[in-house]
Amino acid sequence: MAKFLIAGAGIAGLSAALALAKSGHEVTVLEQAPELSEVGAGIQLGPNVMRILIDWGLGEPILDKGYEPADLVVRDVRDDRVLTARTLDDARKKYGAPHICIRRCDLQSVLFSAAVKAGAVIKTDQPLNDLPNMANQPFDALLGCDGLHSKVREHMLSGTRHGKAPRSSGHTAYRAMLNMNLLPMHLRSRSVQVWLGSAQHAVAYPVNQQQMNIVIVQEGAPTLGGRMSAQLHALIVAVQANSGFTTWPLFHRPLLLHPKLYTKGNIALLGDAAHPMLPYLAQGAAMAIEDAECLAQACVNLKDGSQANIHKALRAYAKARWRRNARVQAQSSWQGWVYHASGLVRYVRNAALWVAGKQLTAMPWLYDYQHTKK
Ligand SMILES: Cc1cc2nc3c(=O)[nH]c(=O)nc-3n(C[C@H](O)[C@H](O)[C@H](O)COP(=O)(O)OP(=O)(O)OC[C@H]3O[C@@H](n4cnc5c(N)ncnc54)[C@H](O)[C@@H]3O)c2cc1C
Repeated sequence: MAKFLIAGAGIAGLSAALALAKSGHEVTVLEQAPELSEVGAGIQLGPNVMRILIDWGLGEPILDKGYEPADLVVRDVRDDRVLTARTLDDARKKYGAPHICIRRCDLQSVLFSAAVKAGAVIKTDQPLNDLPNMANQPFDALLGCDGLHSKVREHMLSGTRHGKAPRSSGHTAYRAMLNMNLLPMHLRSRSVQVWLGSAQHAVAYPVNQQQMNIVIVQEGAPTLGGRMSAQLHALIVAVQANSGFTTWPLFHRPLLLHPKLYTKGNIALLGDAAHPMLPYLAQGAAMAIEDAECLAQACVNLKDGSQANIHKALRAYAKARWRRNARVQAQSSWQGWVYHASGLVRYVRNAALWVAGKQLTAMPWLYDYQHTKK
């Protein structure tokens, strides 16, 4: 058994706390925010991550609070023309777990309750700032789960380009949550809907029986605009007449292309602290949860918190995760380029989706991934 200190109680921190506490380790999480809340946003959980959550015993509460969409429909943003569609409810048969959409705050509350029940101590209003003096703290290892602007990363990788502040991507996400009863019947879709446009795209999906999550990602322009289909325009008007959109600028950090960049001594990075990604594959939180499961597997035989054992376990985690995370990060950026294509590339993309959309959107390399062997 070892003592872990985790910086950050986002999805990475709560998942790591749960997975490690379940294996019998002592876990304390310090969260800078006065309370755990992630307002107004939804999240998709593909079968790769639902498999882990089910293994952790969280299948039931997640299915209970979330929504299992029947299909994915990809349209052209200019005229609502369907470019491709495929079922999502075959995920259970193909990958052994469903594809779920859920409110982020619901996912966090499920993870929080399970982590506390497993014995983790979670303290809010506790920013972890004094990183250079971590060596004096009564913990065997520090996990940087402190997100995009990670102080742990900046400390661990200081003096290198990987430790510098994140760079703007020039892409902005506009996010909203809407009660479906505010929409006319024909807009109350039960699918994951994606609209592809030039330098922008939109995604809408139900997160439970009552609410729909809507995200529009736009490049360059400082305000929401561009050519919109009638259906998407109607959704935007409904959002603007109610809660309105919240704006999230999106950032890049250089890929960590070596296990040595994930861990140094008794410090390791997980989630967005290690691999923030543009949201085009909807996999950032999924990779954080895969990280947590992989780390817990690497620590399963830790008899004590001796430095040699801790270093070995953190190195095994880093070695197992860096390629997968880098591939998903890179593929997310590529997917953004394809989603936002214009001119000739847009015609080629639409033709490819028309001819082979089911295969192109299936991505078994992503959803069928088994990162650890039990
Ligand atoms: C528009 C959009 C849509 C997305 N959709 C999806 C999706 O559908 N599916 C998916 O899998 N992913 C999605 N993502 C990605 C996902 O949201 C992130 O990858 C995920 O939330 C990262 O979790 P994290 O815990 O690593 O970081 P964060 O959620 O940023 O959590 C970090 C935590 O650390 C705390 N913290 C920071 N500094 C300190 C400190 N010094 N001391 C203590 N605490 C600290 C913060 O307050 C925060 O609570 C999306 C992202 C965006 C922007």
